[in-house]
Amino acid sequence: MSDSLLSVTDAVRRISEHLPPPRATSVPLAESLGLVLVEEVRSDLDMPPFAKSMMDGFAVRAADTVRAADNADRPATLKVVDTIHAGSLPKRGVAAGQASRIMTGAPVPAGADAVVAVEKTESEGRDVVRILETVAVGKNVVPQGQDVWEGVTVLSPGRRIRPPEIGVLAAVGKSVVRVYDAPRVAIFSTGDEVVPPAREPGPGQIRNSNSSALVARVTRDRGTVEDLGVLPDETDLMRSALRAALGSFDVVILTGGVSMGEKDLVGGALVAEGFHEVFHKIRLKPGKPALFGTAKGSLVFGLPGNPVSVAVTYELLVRPVLRYLMGYAPVHRPRVTATLESDPPKAIPREQFIPAHVVERPGGFTVETVSWHGSGDLFGFAAANSLLRIPAGGPSPAKGEAASVVVIEESLSGLLGRLPK
Ligand code: AMP
Ligand code: MG
Repeated sequence: MSDSLLSVTDAVRRISEHLPPPRATSVPLAESLGLVLVEEVRSDLDMPPFAKSMMDGFAVRAADTVRAADNADRPATLKVVDTIHAGSLPKRGVAAGQASRIMTGAPVPAGADAVVAVEKTESEGRDVVRILETVAVGKNVVPQGQDVWEGVTVLSPGRRIRPPEIGVLAAVGKSVVRVYDAPRVAIFSTGDEVVPPAREPGPGQIRNSNSSALVARVTRDRGTVEDLGVLPDETDLMRSALRAALGSFDVVILTGGVSMGEKDLVGGALVAEGFHEVFHKIRLKPGKPALFGTAKGSLVFGLPGNPVSVAVTYELLVRPVLRYLMGYAPVHRPRVTATLESDPPKAIPREQFIPAHVVERPGGFTVETVSWHGSGDLFGFAAANSLLRIPAGGPSPAKGEAASVVVIEESLSGLLGRLPK
């Protein structure tokens, strides 16, 4: 029966056939964190823009310091002709026998070709300095353009903007940046039994954990997200809420109401609002009832209501779409091979992604399934940093054998044992 359903791989491929091209936009630098550059960025100046001192000390001609060589008895004695602070310009150059007092970051004056650190000098009043070490040409001076020259490419298209890139963009005067736009994502939960987290559930009710977790996931993945609340299991109310959202968001995500029950009305409400279904149900556990299609230019996901099904289908199906729309590569979560250290889950005709905890050890990765009670158990799932993949129909890896693991933690740091287990 499940064999006739779409595999996860095919579902991902079908989704990819319906994606619009990523959309470029311009944003203020301060709003660009986590987005991907569309444009090539070149430096508009040499960096540093002028030869600058790396030390507080004295700008000198290196040749004038030769007499100082390890000889405090006969140091080079120079006349101090100027004082240069960072942000000010030299008032005069340095001639033979002269020095200028200079601070870190200040421009090195004409004629000087080195800086002697203040610790290697002795002042005789304001006007005379004794130099206690011999310095080579260039000592303690950062030459103009050492880091980049005007016109060179400092960031290429496709570069993800992290704090260091923000620094680079600021340094080259980019106050507005051309990036791929963050997708606008709407979240609906459905279910007559679902109440807001702040409310104490009455008999037969359950708190809405899906919306909060999904908002957090989309935010983490750098989408812009709007929580549009909970819809009751009532077609007309669903339809009017959907009418307002379809076409206004790049991605609309609903949870619940996509299974076979009498109150699973999401598919019908969507179709009544012009939804083009691409698939409904895939050969996946947890997450079999997942629904995907398009409506009025929005990509629409109907995810099953159980919180772990939401997490798994989000990671496997939704997140790659958001990353694609933001110009990220790769779009999929990394997979690692790890030695299975717990008993293997039984293989079934569906592909399984079991909440697991992976750790990097000297000999490679190891993985254990976490203790959980199925697709409703978001508490067990919270201890996972990965999903153990069991192929459809098996074989399931035996304990001690190599297993395929999808890492759902943000960075490798999650693999270095820093996560609470
Ligand atoms: P459904 O897919 O609508 O049949 O829901 C499957 C299970 O998930 C049911 O036990 C629901 O009560 C539960 N569920 C549905 N929506 C939510 C939600 N927003 N937060 C937490 N649990 C939910
Ligand atoms: Mg429901």
